[in-house]
Amino acid sequence: MESSLPVTQADAVVIGAGAFGLSAGYQLAAHGMGRVMVLDQFAPGTQTSPRAAGLYKLIQADETLTRLAQSSIEVIRGFSDATGIPLSFVQSGSVLAARTAEHAALVDDEAEASAGWGIELERLDVEGVHRIAPYLTGRGIQTAYFVPGDIYIEEPRSLLDAYMAAIAQLGSLVIGETPVTGILVDNGEITGVSTPRGDIVTPLVIDAAGAWARGVGALAGVEVPVAPVRHQLLITRPIAGMSAQEPIARIVDASAYLRPARGGLMMGGMESDPIAIDPRHDPEFSIPETPLDMQVLDDLTAALGPLVPALGDTPIAEHRGGLFTMTPDARFLAGPVPGVSGLWTATGCNGSGFSISAGIGRALAEWIIGGEPTINLSSLDPGRFGPGPLDDGELTSAGLWQYANYYTPQLAV
Ligand SMILES: Cc1cc2nc3c(=O)[nH]c(=O)nc-3n(C[C@H](O)[C@H](O)[C@H](O)COP(=O)(O)OP(=O)(O)OC[C@H]3O[C@@H](n4cnc5c(N)ncnc54)[C@H](O)[C@@H]3O)c2cc1C
Repeated sequence: MESSLPVTQADAVVIGAGAFGLSAGYQLAAHGMGRVMVLDQFAPGTQTSPRAAGLYKLIQADETLTRLAQSSIEVIRGFSDATGIPLSFVQSGSVLAARTAEHAALVDDEAEASAGWGIELERLDVEGVHRIAPYLTGRGIQTAYFVPGDIYIEEPRSLLDAYMAAIAQLGSLVIGETPVTGILVDNGEITGVSTPRGDIVTPLVIDAAGAWARGVGALAGVEVPVAPVRHQLLITRPIAGMSAQEPIARIVDASAYLRPARGGLMMGGMESDPIAIDPRHDPEFSIPETPLDMQVLDDLTAALGPLVPALGDTPIAEHRGGLFTMTPDARFLAGPVPGVSGLWTATGCNGSGFSISAGIGRALAEWIIGGEPTINLSSLDPGRFGPGPLDDGELTSAGLWQYANYYTPQLAV
């Protein structure tokens, strides 16, 4: 028999203790929401978020995402001062580069747009790339930019632990092993959630359930259109001379990213023929069981080729993966859900949820408590695809397309 919950009434319940749910829970509590309860079906912070690469990226596809990326880095930078809880990050900056003419044109356009939105960046030549990031030879680079404001978090788990400590310090709760099995709605308004350990009365629920977010939305009769898609990365054994301060690199023509990690290199990237995994079809599934395929990373290593010779030469220390939650337009689902008053979403990560959840959590807390966010989130309206239900096959193929064309959607249309 399940033990009963320590508390049965909350000012807000957040479903999911990953990067999104913990960020939202922390920000709500810090903005004075009262008692916030973040619930997870498993141990908190154990699903996709701790498997992320930990990269933050200021060059984004539009102005809203750029503002959110800036806000996210601001939250991380200010976290220890705001909470007194240690959180380390590396101010490495990043290199954005391409080795074909068509990818170079794309990168130049992105850099120009980002500069227009206030992002500081510096153009690099081939020697400049190798000088600033010695693990890159510079071979074949046609265009490259250095973005000094980008950061990474070495161990993503550390951010989740820091959020949990901050939530506890603010008198709110993160409770694991407590799946939400029902969302209670009366007359179009949220009244609570059900769990095997009892019900919780609350007027506000945030669906931050990651790869399960669509199924959680269905508990309230709403469509939360996410298609989970596998993503993987590797970390090599230590490499002589590798410094943690070397920048992140994103090589757009290879759809791959790199950064220093544990004395070696981390590398991940987008599969050209990705696979969708929908946990709604398997109640026993959890993210550690995501099937991994080293061939995908071997292909990315081959695509990077002589630009990153250390990759092919160094044994692998870790291979990990999880699920991106893709939306049909590669934008987050963040805001109130039309049709059910008091229901919000913070999901639709599209591969950037570890980082951008920091800014989204802050914006949602401002909106919920203050009536409006300081960043206009209208383009992330969870209701923008209509009330649904969306066709499973169409949603999945749109998500797979967005995944495969993550770095280059403009080239594929
Ligand atoms: C290999 C890899 C590398 C990545 N690298 C980066 C990166 O460098 N930068 C970046 O920004 N993003 C990155 N991402 C994406 C990032 O990891 C995700 O966007 C982010 O972790 C999503 O967070 P989440 O909170 O939605 O998901 P999760 O961390 O999976 O959390 C969702 C939680 O909801 C819980 N839940 C689900 N259903 C219920 C229920 N009914 N009741 C209670 N709890 C429930 C789950 O148990 C889970 O703990 C990467 C992803 C992968 C896989």
